[in-house]
Amino acid sequence: MSFAHNVIGWQRQHGRRNLPWQGTRDPYRIWLSEVMLQQTQVRAVIPYYERFLARYPTVKALAAASEDEVLQLWSGLGYYARGRNLHKAAVEICRNGFPSTAETIAQLPGIGRSTAAAIAVFAYGERAAILDGNVKRVLSRRYGVIDKDLWPLAQRLLPKRDLETYTQGLMDLGATVCKRVPECGTCPVKARCVARKTGRIAELPAPRAKKGLPLKQVSWFVFIHQGRTLLERRPSSGIWGGLWCFPERRPSPCRVTRKLPVIEHGFTHFRLRIQPLLCSGGPAGLGLWMDLDHAGRAAIPTPVRNLLHDLPRIVTPRGGPRR
Ligand code: SF4
Repeated sequence: MSFAHNVIGWQRQHGRRNLPWQGTRDPYRIWLSEVMLQQTQVRAVIPYYERFLARYPTVKALAAASEDEVLQLWSGLGYYARGRNLHKAAVEICRNGFPSTAETIAQLPGIGRSTAAAIAVFAYGERAAILDGNVKRVLSRRYGVIDKDLWPLAQRLLPKRDLETYTQGLMDLGATVCKRVPECGTCPVKARCVARKTGRIAELPAPRAKKGLPLKQVSWFVFIHQGRTLLERRPSSGIWGGLWCFPERRPSPCRVTRKLPVIEHGFTHFRLRIQPLLCSGGPAGLGLWMDLDHAGRAAIPTPVRNLLHDLPRIVTPRGGPRR
């Protein structure tokens, strides 16, 4: 039995079904889900996907929103460039129509080869190969091959029929069975798995060269006054582009009254150590004073959300620091 045959049979019996973006050919819904699923697990994506569809039921509605609104709804899902690109792509799609092949879908902002292929398979039934991180792990282990040979292999393995079930099956296999610590006992391709036979599961796929992640340090100047806080919008490029954060440059006038607990946050390429500083003073002409409630619902990254959540506990109702 071929690899594809095994994967298809397994998906029908054991794969994930009834996910909110399954059972449709609507390219908008499929595109939205595939973008959200990049680097994020299904469980975390579902509520965001449902909220997005409720607010923007069509690509036209998404294109008509402001980037700030989209980022606000994206807030907490991480990798915010995805939210910005989603909005940019929606505008482009409204102008030119939805691209209908993997090759043209890959031209949309924020869409790589594998995501484009997944959209083309699920929306149009195209015979295109995917190769996201999960699928790389499955193929690399099953065939004992490393990175550069994986795309041609993924292409060769494509079945002639049931592309949707096969593609979904590969995704499910990588996410639920061939995990970092795999559950080989339930794997449909275990009988011919090279990594399993040769004891190379831990080696495959070849780990990326490990480097210690560089550490960046910043200060956040945190002002609380009469139930409001001062936030600045970040430039659209760079980390947390377009989101609202505490000022990182010391505004004037400003008197630091207390150091708050340090916050550590990890990115793919570096670690960020944030020293929040509770300040008094009322700088004008900088950022926006927002009600604490309103700020918590704005387009803000997770560390800002967490700190806003904790602030009422560490600051008195009148806004002065607790002694
Ligand atoms: Fe992955 Fe184990 Fe299946 Fe091999 S047998 S593909 S290592 S789950």
